[in-house]
Amino acid sequence: MERLNPFTTAQKQLDWAAEKLGLDEATHELLRWPMKEFSFTMPVRMDDGTTRIFRGFRVQYNTARGPAKGGLRWHPDETLDTVRALAAWMTWKTSVVDIPLGGGKGGIVCNPKEMSEGEKERLARAYIRATAGILGVTKDVPAPDVYTTPQVMAWMMDEFETLVGEHHPGVITGKPVPIGGSLGRHDATARGGIYVAREAAKAYGLALQGGTMAVQGFGNAGQYAALLGSEILGLRLVAASDSKGAVYNPKGIDPAALVQFKKQIGTVVGFPEGETLTNAELLELDVSVLFPSALENVITEENAPRVRARMVCELANGPTTPEADRILQDKGILVLPDFLANAGGVTVSYFEQVQNTYNYYWELKDVYARLDDKMTRAFHAVDEMAARHKVDLRQAAYLVSVARVAEACRLRGWV
Ligand code: NAD
Repeated sequence: MERLNPFTTAQKQLDWAAEKLGLDEATHELLRWPMKEFSFTMPVRMDDGTTRIFRGFRVQYNTARGPAKGGLRWHPDETLDTVRALAAWMTWKTSVVDIPLGGGKGGIVCNPKEMSEGEKERLARAYIRATAGILGVTKDVPAPDVYTTPQVMAWMMDEFETLVGEHHPGVITGKPVPIGGSLGRHDATARGGIYVAREAAKAYGLALQGGTMAVQGFGNAGQYAALLGSEILGLRLVAASDSKGAVYNPKGIDPAALVQFKKQIGTVVGFPEGETLTNAELLELDVSVLFPSALENVITEENAPRVRARMVCELANGPTTPEADRILQDKGILVLPDFLANAGGVTVSYFEQVQNTYNYYWELKDVYARLDDKMTRAFHAVDEMAARHKVDLRQAAYLVSVARVAEACRLRGWV
């Protein structure tokens, strides 16, 4: 079967929004393509003395609202089209939360699981040598993504600063806290999603206090969703899964104990106070909120008719296929779309950049309060758009974000 090209999907989504918003042809065409894209090779000395040539990409999709912002992925199957699609989605994500940044993304074709720490460090530094001229606080600011970590960000920042001969911590975000990272970045994605879920529940009259939640993908986003879902929303965790399977207990699972168990054993499967379940069964549980927090395309045309959650809060990117999306909407399930629900991460990345520029660092409570403000405003802007155009929240999120980027292009006199 031919693999769906993610960039074709991204262009189709834009086409729909452009038509609905009545964008003129030039603006529509401008937003269909990356403004700039870079493809390059990076020779890296390997531990065995050989030199390997790695391929890298950086796409600056749109910078009308501010410098490009977006993660850097290390993946064996990386392609320019994947990076273009992700850069487009970052453009809509920074716009929907109304932070003064554009959208970008980077990638390296590599398999970090087969590389030593030294090889990874040399690759990270090679990427910066290849891109230093196009990066910077006022141009383009990368961040961690699939298989890139705060340590990788630290090496990259160091290489950039060595090249330019001065401190520039804001050139990259997601850094370790002692060298310019922000407090609160670790749980920002889940926390942002929890704030959006809280607002959505209020707006649509769903009582979450004392309700239940299931978390698919008990990794970074999923673990914090469980902890904060319990702390902030008063939800009881009844099921959680990872790539090995799921654990289920209708009476409730202590999220902190499960995080501890996963840390020690490496999986949620076998947690003593629960029974084993498959990942497929978890998605169909009768719960107040389902948090898909693992991979794309897990809620499909096939299983969507059996989904019984009242609300689906998409912390993962692209967990619901377009066909499944329609089925969930028809069933009256409230779907909080990925690029709104998981925008807390990039929002705190932006806060990190602001703190780096001021060279003055905020307390945790200030990060939380400012994140809450951004996510709450973003939800209500989207909800108002949904009411105005009689569309669902995902469609409304596209309308809000594309309209803002189009307006910035127009005000600059580009179109
Ligand atoms: P992670 O690697 O920390 O966690 C992913 C978890 O999913 C792991 O526990 C893994 O075992 C589990 N998993 C893998 N395959 C699975 C399967 N088939 N069924 C159930 N679980 C499975 O990754 P993360 O950083 O938490 O990211 C998760 C998702 O959230 C991704 O889609 C990512 O793009 C998105 N996201 C994350 C952030 C962030 O800041 N971490 C920001 C925005 C979006």
